[in-house]
Amino acid sequence: MKIIILNESKTPDPLSHVEKRSAVTPGSAQRLIKKGATLLLEQGAGESAGYSDKEYAEVGVTIIDDVKSALSSVDMLVAVNKPSEDQLALMKKGAIVVGHLDPFFQQSLIESIADKGLTAISVEMIPRSSRAQKMDALSSQASLAGYVMVMQAVNQLPSILPMMMTPSGTIKPAKVFVIGAGVAGLQAIATAKRLGANVLAYDTRPVVAEQVESLGGKFLKIDLGETGQTKDGYAKELTDEQKAKQQDAQRDAIAGSDIVITTAQLFGRKPPVLISKQTLALMKPGSVVVDMAATSGGNVEGSVAGETVEINGVKVIGDGYWSQYVAKAATDMYANNIYNLIDEFFDDERKSFGLNLEDDILAGCVIAHDGKITNAMLLNAYKGA
Ligand code: NAD
Repeated sequence: MKIIILNESKTPDPLSHVEKRSAVTPGSAQRLIKKGATLLLEQGAGESAGYSDKEYAEVGVTIIDDVKSALSSVDMLVAVNKPSEDQLALMKKGAIVVGHLDPFFQQSLIESIADKGLTAISVEMIPRSSRAQKMDALSSQASLAGYVMVMQAVNQLPSILPMMMTPSGTIKPAKVFVIGAGVAGLQAIATAKRLGANVLAYDTRPVVAEQVESLGGKFLKIDLGETGQTKDGYAKELTDEQKAKQQDAQRDAIAGSDIVITTAQLFGRKPPVLISKQTLALMKPGSVVVDMAATSGGNVEGSVAGETVEINGVKVIGDGYWSQYVAKAATDMYANNIYNLIDEFFDDERKSFGLNLEDDILAGCVIAHDGKITNAMLLNAYKGA
């Protein structure tokens, strides 16, 4: 099986964000080659994550610069992001494309993948099950994002997080409020706690209260009535009445915080707006808000994707490109997720990826195959679009 890894830093996204991660490390490449795969890597693909072409070549990866001719010969393209239409057009029928394909918001790309007879594996659609945990790129990347959100806030805060008692006076611990206590939020809570902050958190799924408390945070209790969660553990969208109630109940907590970090997402839909401009105006000058959802629509009114803006003296960080600050760690984790996915379904006899669509993991994440879109959830979403 021939696998290609492109240099994704060469194709910045519409906001000029340059991808620094790679889908394969020299370590994961070595393990894939040991299984019987052949790896082609576009020059410099690992460089921004700290891996030189030489390190890949040393474990048996072929370094290429002519991507066009290589793409037509490969069985699989493993990527961090979605490949371009031009790149996909060069691939042979039946080849597999793996990456963050953003399928709910990329209908035409996914349809075009299906039309070309390619198979698409969207890492976002890997089920959140125990067996799939080792392949769960959403979780691996969200954990790092949660850490980076705190670091970014700390860099902008004109104070410190821990309590400091010195002969020159005492500095009280900073107050950090985390809204959304999923994978990223829990990591943000743990990081802020380790740095000595007082941490409060809120999530519409009451089941996470215990997890917040086990990390040393306090859970803000808001009675919204029935909120529940989907069978995959994702939040359900609130009614308008519940949304208004949540915004009222968290107003004081936001106003009294030095740092607010929002990580709330709704799977397959735009994130909810949780902080209005009026609430933001209640915060002290010098406070910091980090909107982790800024690039996908935003939890905070006025946040700007890819930028830090100041609103009434409050710094609002909308730099969703957290991975550029921890590109090596993010690459290491993502490359492990990709290796584990290939390893799980590798047919050792045929030395190829076994596309068993009866398997619950593949049934979830294979979204296009054999000329068709194969995921019912997506087909429904596209119908409603
Ligand atoms: P996510 O990124 O979709 O959302 C982040 C958080 O935002 C969630 O906790 C969600 O409840 C919360 N949220 C949504 N609307 C909100 C609102 N209005 N106010 C406050 N918070 C709001 O979720 P995620 O972090 O990817 O994961 C969600 C859950 O999935 C996890 O907590 C876990 O239960 C489950 N999960 C399971 C596995 C596994 O079993 N292998 C792996 C990862 C995650």
